[in-house]
Amino acid sequence: MFKTTVGPGSSRAGYLRPETAQGIFMDFNWISRYFRGRMPFGVVQIGKAYRNEISPRQALLRLREFHQMEAEVFFDPQNKTWPRYDRLRDKNLKLLTREAQLLAPTEQNPIRMTMGDAVANGIIANEALGYFVALTAEFLETAGLPENVLRFRQHGLQEKAHYATDTWDAEFLSTRFDWVEIVGIADRTDFDLRAHERVSGQKLRQMRFFKEPQAVEVDRFIPVRAQLGPRFKDKAAAIGDAISKMDVPDSIPRDLEVEIDGRVFSVPKDCVRVERRMERKEGDWYVPHVIEPSFGVDRIIYALLECNAEFPGPEIEMVSMASGQKMQVVGPEPVKIRLPQSVAPIKAGVFPLMNRDGLDMFAKEVDARLRAAGITTYYDDAGAIGRRYARMDEIGTPWCVTVDYDSLEKKDVTVRERDTTKQERVAIDRLVDRFHDKS
Ligand code: AMP
Repeated sequence: MFKTTVGPGSSRAGYLRPETAQGIFMDFNWISRYFRGRMPFGVVQIGKAYRNEISPRQALLRLREFHQMEAEVFFDPQNKTWPRYDRLRDKNLKLLTREAQLLAPTEQNPIRMTMGDAVANGIIANEALGYFVALTAEFLETAGLPENVLRFRQHGLQEKAHYATDTWDAEFLSTRFDWVEIVGIADRTDFDLRAHERVSGQKLRQMRFFKEPQAVEVDRFIPVRAQLGPRFKDKAAAIGDAISKMDVPDSIPRDLEVEIDGRVFSVPKDCVRVERRMERKEGDWYVPHVIEPSFGVDRIIYALLECNAEFPGPEIEMVSMASGQKMQVVGPEPVKIRLPQSVAPIKAGVFPLMNRDGLDMFAKEVDARLRAAGITTYYDDAGAIGRRYARMDEIGTPWCVTVDYDSLEKKDVTVRERDTTKQERVAIDRLVDRFHDKS
């Protein structure tokens, strides 16, 4: 989809993938074996995707090279349920249906209902799709997007890919760019697997087993060796074997196409005959359907930053009531990003109050302890404590730990919380537990 050239000064063409998903379909048979043929199963992938956007713009929203997290979840088309459906059945959703989008813009209101009701009323096509819509809502809210800036918009009949039965986009309301799609969740049916089957000649199927194997009548091609031998010489045996494994179509064409070692042979009808046999059948083969939640990582990160950043207020001048003289300029408040601790890249800033008298050694020990417990820290001994807090607030670090002179004696530290700026003393032996409790 995105053509480029490989290597400097080269004219060799290369093509970049527009989504991460296709490799999963190509590996379908390996993956199916890994899951021992049991349905449903899912595969996730994170990686780069490329699109030849005519005008990349709007910060992280329209890039030519971006990151996707995609899942392909495979189902038997006769059973689009999900084992843990009940966990999310009562999740509240805001749904902008395709019917609502036909109304005048001011009338286009989303409906609020639980995922279970949306599925029961046929608004979302099936249980499995409903589950992944609700899971997406839960994920985005946990990552730090408030519920009031999120909605799910159903694709209209024109917009929906021709193969998809139902598609919902998670959208977030940007203060700068209005509603922006951040995740697409589509029931892609069997479109991708069938397309890969067609081009590769490989069967990408799954068996729906009968309770008991059945005896069934089937038609089979029987190679007529006397015809094949003179025509195809040393290839005759291989062609005969390949033909006997082929399915017999309802109407047999004049020539059958057989591929041997990458070469395609046309085999005339009179080289085969059809015989009806009784065979033992274990089940029916089918092409699985797939539900694809496709997450745009860069857009989600943009949304998290926009929704959680507090920007500096204006400078406020304080004027003395008595003298009318300017007293002080307050602010501006520094930037603060209120990321939930689960997505904050750094969990704790660690500061020695002074860079001497053993405070630094002690603070480094505290830092090492937190890191050993898997808590990502940032050690900072430069400048006034207020500035160090501000630096951490600005990148969304939820906690700061300060080591002072009392710490040396009492073996405790001050923990300051970003959002409340509340401070409390915590014994260093309890510090790791305290962070784990809070997360
Ligand atoms: P799509 O396959 O077009 O539904 O894209 C899947 C997801 O990738 C979208 O929900 C977006 O979050 C993201 N995405 C698509 N195009 C871009 C782009 N040009 N820049 C950044 N993210 C994108």
